[in-house]
Amino acid sequence: MAQPQADVIRLRNFIGGQWVEAEAAGSDPVYNPATGEVIAQVPLSSAADVDRAVKAAAAAFDAWRETPVFKRARLMFRYKQVLEEHFEELAALITREHGKTLDEARAELERGIEVVEFAAGIPTLIMGKTLELVGTGVDAEMYRQPLGVCVGICPYNFPAMIPMWMFPLAIACGNTFVLKPSERTPLTATRLAELLEEAGVPAGVFNVVHGARETVDALLAHEEVRAVSFVGSQPVAAYIYRTAAAYGKRVQALAGAKNHMIVLPDADLDYTTEAIVASSFGSAGQRCMAGSVLVAQQDVADNILERLVDRSNRLKIGPGDQPGVEMGPLIRDQHRERVKGYIQIGEEEGARLIFDGRKAPVPERGFFLGPTIFDGANPDMRIAREEIFGPVLTTVRVKDVEEGIALINRSAYGNGAVIFTRSGAAARAFRRHAKAGMLGINVGVPAPVAVFPFTGWRNSFYGDLHANGEDAINFYTDRKVVTARWL
Ligand code: NAD
Repeated sequence: MAQPQADVIRLRNFIGGQWVEAEAAGSDPVYNPATGEVIAQVPLSSAADVDRAVKAAAAAFDAWRETPVFKRARLMFRYKQVLEEHFEELAALITREHGKTLDEARAELERGIEVVEFAAGIPTLIMGKTLELVGTGVDAEMYRQPLGVCVGICPYNFPAMIPMWMFPLAIACGNTFVLKPSERTPLTATRLAELLEEAGVPAGVFNVVHGARETVDALLAHEEVRAVSFVGSQPVAAYIYRTAAAYGKRVQALAGAKNHMIVLPDADLDYTTEAIVASSFGSAGQRCMAGSVLVAQQDVADNILERLVDRSNRLKIGPGDQPGVEMGPLIRDQHRERVKGYIQIGEEEGARLIFDGRKAPVPERGFFLGPTIFDGANPDMRIAREEIFGPVLTTVRVKDVEEGIALINRSAYGNGAVIFTRSGAAARAFRRHAKAGMLGINVGVPAPVAVFPFTGWRNSFYGDLHANGEDAINFYTDRKVVTARWL
């Protein structure tokens, strides 16, 4: 075991097949957000640490790109098996460092493993195309070839799934990889690396370098890095996109969100209540697909809000590893203060606070905050426009579905939006006209799946090729077209 599971360890980087101490002296504490205890120290790797990792990845590239595609696929089959053998252990680790419930941890892990399954199909995914007779006696063919060293920079809220959107596909394509996990949830990524090592990844093909801002900047600037995959908050995504592009890298930067949920009077309200509570308060609202604005048609607004308040009153809040718990803590005390700050802003802006999470009974230890519901917000209020990333639901009342769609389309973000209705015509209008990339029809969280791209729009995404699906294969490869005439 590369990382001893003692109480407070300083994590090591994984470079060239070795677990090594970062040269940088600085580190950050990693907490169990359900107890407030420090469970590890994460090194804040320096440019020198980054250089070692990127050079190790660059050195491994030539041999890996020459490894037959079926062997690269087999690594993914073995990895899937190892991940499944360690499934419960990984889920417990996600809960321990993130705070989400075990069921939520299992769900993200399943979604992550689906990407590994998808990557195991690399022999067909990476196939090129041919066309005879593009001229007289002339044929053309297109190949996909790996880029070289690819980098992944991750947020804290899906410690397993988001790294797994990146490295399995990049590696299966024949690239080598340097992962920079979130400094707030680095333990799961470390374990994912140990398990990939167990599955037999060759030294240097996959590397982990822990750290924060300085580490990221060194990765963006490194001349041997070809492509950067980023997932995180909108301001940082915009910065990564600009900076990495200025260094000539290929970039995909998935950013923040403000997701709307339209409810029409013909919706199944029992089902819709459960779906909204799960979407808005699941993972304590810390999901980029979390529903955070309830767009209630005026004839159903009182009814749905009454149900939501009643359900929120009964929501079981506590440590994610306790049976029956439905909502865990926020990631840090500082983040909880920020979310509370938004509740105060909502009150000051004149929205009606109909359920106040600050007064909910929560465990004393840990970074807990109850669910909050506002009614009577207008679309210009900050609580209706800005990403809060906590369990706060803001309600805007509208007269019909068209006004609801128009509201979605005013948002600066376009990650996702959902509608609850039994009307095919309303659902079709929503599907056709809503300016967001991931839509749900009677689905509270239209979560990304491995075979489709995760298509955030507007300020929720910077770049051209998205994560997952065929987009990811194109992102992690160069296309080469050969035109040939044989005389
Ligand atoms: P974050 O932006 O704070 O951090 C993301 C990564 O960027 C981390 O690895 C961090 O070390 C690094 N980083 C932070 N500040 C930096 C800086 N100034 N310069 C360079 N690197 C920096 O995000 P977070 O709080 O960890 O994650 C939550 C955010 O991620 C939310 O906004 C959420 O919506 C978003 N998110 C988006 C998606 C999506 O698919 N669109 C998915 C998950 C999370």
